[in-house]
Amino acid sequence: AVGIEIRDVSHHYGGRNGQGGVTALDHITLDIRPNEFHALLGPSGCGKSTLLYLIGGFIPVQSGVIETARGPVTGPNPERGIVFQNFALFPWKTVLQNTLYGLEKLGLPKKEREEKARHFIDLVHLSGFENAFPSQLSGGMQQRAAIARTLAVDPEILLMDEPFGALDAQTRRVMQEELRSIWQRTRKTVVFVTHDVQEAVFLADRISIMSARPGRIQHVIDVGFNR
Ligand code: ADP
Ligand code: ADP
Repeated sequence: AVGIEIRDVSHHYGGRNGQGGVTALDHITLDIRPNEFHALLGPSGCGKSTLLYLIGGFIPVQSGVIETARGPVTGPNPERGIVFQNFALFPWKTVLQNTLYGLEKLGLPKKEREEKARHFIDLVHLSGFENAFPSQLSGGMQQRAAIARTLAVDPEILLMDEPFGALDAQTRRVMQEELRSIWQRTRKTVVFVTHDVQEAVFLADRISIMSARPGRIQHVIDVGFNR
């Protein structure tokens, strides 16, 4: 498994010649350990999503270094899979087609791709819904499909941006339990963004508590008992 080394990372939006704009992240240093479930916890605007997108390679690192076993992060890579709050499924593709999507780039034979896709659909308890379109599914089921699609590509690192934020409280609870059980079976390195303290404590091994203006990590807490 792969950890993530974040060294002295700062990030600014807007402004000119270093003046004005927003300091979204201010000198963040953090080691995310291989196989750990790490939560980034803090109020809206503290830079959680910015840090997650930097790790994902979706926005370029302006200052400092983010490194995995593969080397410095310079862009998106299948090593790092992401699940968004709003599911981001293709509405014109079925659950199976959505799950196959990432696999098509991996160059596996068709039969193997389909077996893999079905395996992950089963893992997230969506068997029987392979041919359903996202609009025919509940929010929780759509998020399961999004998780299956990301896991199918077998990323070493799973990045999650408030994945259950759009769900009702009861579905959210079910999904938290499912994610914990999926994580216990796959032991991926997970970075999970949330502003929900209970969610962080329930899921994470360690929690980075962030504060805003400028975005900083105030404490890293070991929740240990989730292991
Ligand atoms: P979050 O759910 O992480 O709090 P926000 O609602 O703050 O997200 O932001 C949603 C989107 O808008 C993100 O893509 C973010 O990058 C962008 N965004 C947030 N704040 C600003 C801003 N001041 N100017 C432009 N884009 C912004
Ligand atoms: P969080 O995920 O904790 O809500 P974000 O990383 O979305 O925090 O945002 C951190 C800060 O950066 C906020 O002040 C937000 O308004 C600002 N911000 C985020 N995205 C953009 C953007 N694209 N342009 C300008 N400001 C942004």
